[in-house]
Amino acid sequence: MTEARGAVEAALDALLPGLDDLLAALVAIPSVGGTAAESEIQHLLADRLDGLGLEVDRWPLDLSALGGEPEFPGAEVARTEAWGVVGRLPGSGGGRSLLLNAHTDVVPVGDPCAWTSPPFTPTIRGTGAQRRLIGRGACDMKGGLAAAYLAVAALTAAARSGTRLAGDVLLAPVVGEEDGGLGTYGLLRRGWRADGCVIPEPTGLDLVPANAGALTFRLTLRGRSAHASRRTEGVSVLDHLPAVLDALRALEGRRNAEVDPVMAGWPLAYPISIGRVSAGDWPSSVPDLLVAEGRHGVALGESIAAARAALEGAVAEACARDPWLAAHPVEVEWWGGQFASGATDPAHPLVSAVAAAHQAARGGPAPAVLGAPYGSDLRLLTGIGGIPTLQYGPGDAAQAHAPDESVALDEVERCARSLALLAVDWCGRPV
Ligand SMILES: [Zn+2]
Repeated sequence: MTEARGAVEAALDALLPGLDDLLAALVAIPSVGGTAAESEIQHLLADRLDGLGLEVDRWPLDLSALGGEPEFPGAEVARTEAWGVVGRLPGSGGGRSLLLNAHTDVVPVGDPCAWTSPPFTPTIRGTGAQRRLIGRGACDMKGGLAAAYLAVAALTAAARSGTRLAGDVLLAPVVGEEDGGLGTYGLLRRGWRADGCVIPEPTGLDLVPANAGALTFRLTLRGRSAHASRRTEGVSVLDHLPAVLDALRALEGRRNAEVDPVMAGWPLAYPISIGRVSAGDWPSSVPDLLVAEGRHGVALGESIAAARAALEGAVAEACARDPWLAAHPVEVEWWGGQFASGATDPAHPLVSAVAAAHQAARGGPAPAVLGAPYGSDLRLLTGIGGIPTLQYGPGDAAQAHAPDESVALDEVERCARSLALLAVDWCGRPV
């Protein structure tokens, strides 16, 4: 085994000088969810995996069929096409398989003026271990994607020189993670499974075996319009919004009073947040329609149905206490991304295997094990796929979706090494 590790590390060392160019090439593709570039990056990766000599499964996702299935996780952007890609490095047989799953879609850049370099023109700043690559998606999660790609490339090179593993290693770049999980859902519907999965999302190289869920909701409040000069004859929706917000805040407090120990490190494990509000259509009219859209956290072990019922119940109680709202109840809709929570038992051998690989890669203390307050593809892999899955990857999640998003190249390297060593130990050597 020591020999195999040495061979894989040597193969990785030979590839690392290409990391800057690889990550820059990935970040330069503006693969915002729902754009043509989302397909472009899938094809680029399929071609590259093919070039490495992997068995590549590349297929068009059947968007209308998948979207009509009861377990479809939702989507928030329109797509006319989307592609699934899996590269498989076949093992000799008898070992555990390992799937590396990385989303290739990124979120829009936000205010371009908030960036100090153009978001899709990758820029490297700093020196030595402080070198960082800046660009949309660098942290979430093309840094992790590059690490997984390099690990697989190293394993492939080592296999070609005689160091084969027993189990398969799979690399799956997926689309649509940011708006629901289309790509991973399609991957699972295609029939791909593995004995363990690592998603190199930005965790700062901590181990994240659990994710809270997140449900996108829409509240509609109705009032009665009137000319502003006679406003007392109308009913402003704004006057009734605070009752609803107070009820949501109180609900949030109750839901966070006691949380699973793996989530206890967060000041607020399961936030309820309104992200978009629109009301009224004229300065001199009493606003009679308000639409508020937000995000509701799902606790570990809680079903989507139970989480929805909790929010609907809190809104209904607020309406019951307000005479206008009692007669004109707030409508609650669930739309867009519907992320269930998901978890792998922290005692699962995959968790200790990743921790051991992390330490073998460069020493230092064992990584922390904690749950994350955001939803991700993890819940599809553990839930629908039944695949033990954890997140472990380079970058700070606080950088994700932010202007001047960046990742430390040193951390990407370290992650690549950990993933390569993990594969050796997890997939095993032929007996
Ligand atoms: Zn991500």
